[in-house]
Amino acid sequence: MEKIKFIDTVIENKKDIFIKASDTIWENPELYFNEKNSSKIIMDILKKENFDVKDSIDNIPTAFIGSFGSGKPVIAILGEFDALPGLSQVANLAEKKELVINGAGHGCGHHALGIGSLAGAIAVKRYLEENNLSGTIRYYGCPAEEIGWSKMFLVKDGYFSDVDAAITWHPSSMNRVQGSSTLANLCAYFSFTGKAAHAAAAPHLGRSALDACELMNVGVNYLREHIIPEAKIHYAYLDVGGEAPNVVQSHSCLKYFIRAPKIKQVLEIAERVKKIAKGAALMTETIENINFTAGMCDFIPNGIISNIMTESLFEIGVPNFDEEDISTAQLFFNTFSQDEINSSLKRMSESYDNVENFKNCPLIKEISNFKRSNNCGFGSTDVGDVSYCVPTAQLQLSSFANGTPAHSWQATAQGKTNAMHKSLLTAGKILALTAIKLLENPIILKEAKNEYIKETGGKYICPVSQDTKPIF
Ligand SMILES: [Zn+2]
Repeated sequence: MEKIKFIDTVIENKKDIFIKASDTIWENPELYFNEKNSSKIIMDILKKENFDVKDSIDNIPTAFIGSFGSGKPVIAILGEFDALPGLSQVANLAEKKELVINGAGHGCGHHALGIGSLAGAIAVKRYLEENNLSGTIRYYGCPAEEIGWSKMFLVKDGYFSDVDAAITWHPSSMNRVQGSSTLANLCAYFSFTGKAAHAAAAPHLGRSALDACELMNVGVNYLREHIIPEAKIHYAYLDVGGEAPNVVQSHSCLKYFIRAPKIKQVLEIAERVKKIAKGAALMTETIENINFTAGMCDFIPNGIISNIMTESLFEIGVPNFDEEDISTAQLFFNTFSQDEINSSLKRMSESYDNVENFKNCPLIKEISNFKRSNNCGFGSTDVGDVSYCVPTAQLQLSSFANGTPAHSWQATAQGKTNAMHKSLLTAGKILALTAIKLLENPIILKEAKNEYIKETGGKYICPVSQDTKPIF
C-alpha cells in the first residue's frame, strides 16, 4: 500500500508536466525516425530527473536510453512517440476533419504511450532513491514503431543484452495485460532493372521491369494457397517505371510485408517469395535486387511478468473516469457502425467473459484477468523483438472510446481528452508498481527468465541479416 501511495504522489505531483508533454507531442506529430522534437521533450524531462541520457543510440538519431541507478537487476520501460501519415485530425471533434491537410497524426496514441512510460520510469527512479536500493531503471526511447521498426535494431545490436525484464503499455479500449501474440513481420523491397525501348517501334529491344513486378505478384498469388492460412502477404508498388505506356519500363520496385504467427514461419515463406522474384526476373530477362530491410518477431507475453503486471493493474485500478469522460466517449462511440462495434467485441472476447455487457458501453472500466491466447489478430509490433530477447509484458489501458480502431481519425481525435490524460498517468503508476516489484524480487525475475528460455530457446531470431541498418 505504501508503494502505491508513493508512486501516486510522485506522478500526481508532476501530472501537469506529463500532460503538457503528451499534448505537445500530439500537436507536433512526427513520423518514423524524424521524431526530433518528441524525443527531445522526453530526454529533457529525463535529464532534469538526473537520468543518464544517451541519445542517437545505435546511430539512430531519435533513439535514446535514459538510465538511473546501478547494477542488477535492470528493468526496461519501453516508450514510443511516432505518429502516422495521413491521420491529422482536429482534437476532441467527433467528426472527420483534418487539422492539417494530408498531415500526420497520432492515430495510435504513441504520444501518450511515450509519456505514460516516462511517468512510470520517473516514479521508479524516485523509489530507488528514496529507499536507497540498488538496481537500474532504463527508459528506452524507441522511434518508428509504425514504420521502420527500431526495436529490432536495438535488440540485434545488443542494447537489451543486460536487461532482466521489459515492460510497456499501449492506449486501448480495454484494461488488460496482453496475453495474445502478434504477427511476426518482414519488410522486403524487390527492385527489377530492365531495358527501355520504344514500346511500338522496337519492343523486341526492351526488357520490362514492370512485367517482372506483375509476374512476381501473380506468382505470389499462386503461392498464397500453399502457405499456412494464418500467413498474410501484402504488397505495394513503389515504382511502376514511369507514366508513359509507350516506353518499355526499365525500372520498377515492389515493397512487401510477409506476416505469420511465428518469425520462423515468416523466414521460411520469405525464402519462397525470393524464388518467385528470381523467377520473374528470369522470365523477363531483367535483373532483380532483393533487400530485406527490417522485421518484427511475434510477441511472446511472459506469463510471470504479465501476472505481476495484472496484479498491479488490479491494485492501482483503472483510470478514474467521470461522467464527462463517458459523455465524450459516447460521441465517438456513436460514430462506429454496428459491424465495427461487433468486431471490437469479438476481439475483446478473448479477454473478457461477457462482452455483451459492453454492447452499449462507451468507455470500459472493467479489468480482464490475464489470459494466454494463441490468437494473433492484432497486427504486428516490434515489442515482439524485445520479447524474444528478455521476458516482456505489455499493458493495455482504456483510453479510447469502446470500439475505436487503431490508426483511425477517431483515435487521433481522442489524443488529448481528459480520459487519455488520466489513462497515461494511471499507466505510469501501473508500470512503476510492476517495475518496483520486479526490482525487489529477484526470484520472480529468475522464474520469468526460465519461462522465457522455455518459450524461445533463449535465443533471439533476428529477422534480417546482422549488418542491416535502418532506412531513414
Ligand atoms: Zn501503436
